[in-house]
Amino acid sequence: MDRAFKLPDCIRLEVGEPNFPTPSHVLEAADKAARGGKTRYTENSGIPELRSRIAETFATDTGRITKVEDVVVTTGAMAALYTTLMSIADPGDEVIVMSPSWPNYLMQMTLLGIRPIVVPTTEATGHVPTVEQLESAVSNRTKAVLINSPCNPTGAVINQAQMADILEFARKADIYVISDEVYDKITYEGTHVSAASHDDDGRVVCIHSFSKTYSMTGWRVGYAVAPPEIANLIRKCQEPTVSCVNAPAQYAALAALDGPQEIVGEMRDAYRERRDEARRILSSSGIPALEPGGAFYIWIDISSSGRSDVEFAMDLVDKHQVAVVPGSTFGPGNEDRVRISLATAPDLLYEGMRRLIDETRS
Ligand code: PLP
Repeated sequence: MDRAFKLPDCIRLEVGEPNFPTPSHVLEAADKAARGGKTRYTENSGIPELRSRIAETFATDTGRITKVEDVVVTTGAMAALYTTLMSIADPGDEVIVMSPSWPNYLMQMTLLGIRPIVVPTTEATGHVPTVEQLESAVSNRTKAVLINSPCNPTGAVINQAQMADILEFARKADIYVISDEVYDKITYEGTHVSAASHDDDGRVVCIHSFSKTYSMTGWRVGYAVAPPEIANLIRKCQEPTVSCVNAPAQYAALAALDGPQEIVGEMRDAYRERRDEARRILSSSGIPALEPGGAFYIWIDISSSGRSDVEFAMDLVDKHQVAVVPGSTFGPGNEDRVRISLATAPDLLYEGMRRLIDETRS
């Protein structure tokens, strides 16, 4: 990224950020809130109107009865994840996490002194962990398993049967399931399965965000829907760390939920079109890549380049001004992969991919 920043014309395929503007009614709601005096601290858990709207939406989406008390509005999904981990595990405790997975999980665990137990997922199982793998990762210090569907970076989507198995595993091991569902509205074929819809004894913490769904990355609004004992701890963690989420941004998030939802499907359809074209470009060049079932990334096999992920990414940025993320960023065992983002404007995406293909052959 440092190298990419120094190159003004660099094509940035590494950033996981929608290229669409935040919807205008969301901007207007924030403006109205700020001008109307909503410029003060709010409740630690978030403004009641937003929490109650989230509870309603969550109940509709997952079929699970959701109380306002279960919802805590956080500074993006990142803070929801961090305070959830902080609430569930003490230093020295273990949390099961997959490789590849979003690198911030490991960074957060390092900050909190939590031991990550890394389970490698493979193409053979569609990058979904098997119950056997999960069972062999459990110890008496295990507090939770952290799953992410649709997955960043592989685009893997956990189906009903797999989710039921993961929940059954968690029940037997008596651990929490932290389910990062920030890409829930970006699935291309099947529908998203929430871990909450398989939770019958209060062990799931669902992590959500406005960032990707409504193209609101910079607003920093996310939330956790958690069992009461965890929701209460997350709320308490907010007081000494952030107090509350930016007040006008909470009103903006409320407007996003209350307003027209067509934009969500339109963005997803645009990503799907880009995914299909990107896959066509890659397969006509003989470069293997997974077909993502959700999220907006492509996980590309660059082993034909004969270089490691980091060498390849550095060559690509230096020689072709294209930035991608080296696979090893997402955990061990991914040194033959890079990730690109479909949330980039299509002309830049396809041009960047052409240069990437040239580099695999050089
Ligand atoms: N979880 C995953 C899997 C992500 O990819 C991201 C952002 O890239 C986040 C969480 C963070 O989302 P937020 O912007 O709401 O903090």
